Amino acid sequence: MVQLKSPREIETMAAGGKILAAAHEKVRAAVRPGATTMDLDKVAEDFIRSHAGATPSFKGLYGFPASICASINEEIVHGIPSPKRVLKEGDIISVDIGVFYGGLHTDSANTWPVGAIDEKTTKLLRVTKDALEAGLAAATVGNYVGDIGHAIETVVLKGGFSVVRELVGHGVGHLMHEEPQVPNHGKPKRGMRLVNGLTLAIEPMVNVGSAATRTLGDKWTVITVDGSRSAHFEHTVAVTNEGPRVLTR
Ligand code: MG
Ligand code: MG
Repeated sequence: MVQLKSPREIETMAAGGKILAAAHEKVRAAVRPGATTMDLDKVAEDFIRSHAGATPSFKGLYGFPASICASINEEIVHGIPSPKRVLKEGDIISVDIGVFYGGLHTDSANTWPVGAIDEKTTKLLRVTKDALEAGLAAATVGNYVGDIGHAIETVVLKGGFSVVRELVGHGVGHLMHEEPQVPNHGKPKRGMRLVNGLTLAIEPMVNVGSAATRTLGDKWTVITVDGSRSAHFEHTVAVTNEGPRVLTR
């Protein structure tokens, strides 16, 4: 079910989104060679819970055991934080975090470099971020869900990379995952029409090599089939009569 948000609910999501944005900055500051993905999980969880009324959305969601998803290199999304996963110079780490605040969820992700990274990986991060920005800019009243995916895919293909198709963006708010689904590919003017009060998590996942994915035996971690690297950037945006309002900047 599509659930439109009132201006007041959007303000509440913006307040939660502010905590979420700051949590990402805290995690970013902790990303370094030698840090473990469990270290990053603790940084995020402690920071979120230090705000009265805020909790990490992911902990326990569908049985997920941690507060963040931490996915290294060829891992696309849903990596489980572990004290055994140690970051190395040249890695990339995708960190996905949700915050539940005032009865509403916000959702965002970043991919951070660990120390110095190679040129191709630098381009991967830039193209994925640009694709997200194109998707956010397409989240306007009167546009369609397909316009968002089309905008994202256009940037990714121009950059020479591929878009993951099995995983999609989504409505967000009262639930972490609401309708509509927001694929990262699509045709202009297809799908649901965007209206004032719709809140969406837009989240391109972009692979250096093929778009094909598989899920590891832990039943969570999604990786690229060809072992190529993958990046993930996400923001929660409100579609408003004044234009797209990014709530997790
Ligand atoms: Mg997310
Ligand atoms: Mg999401």
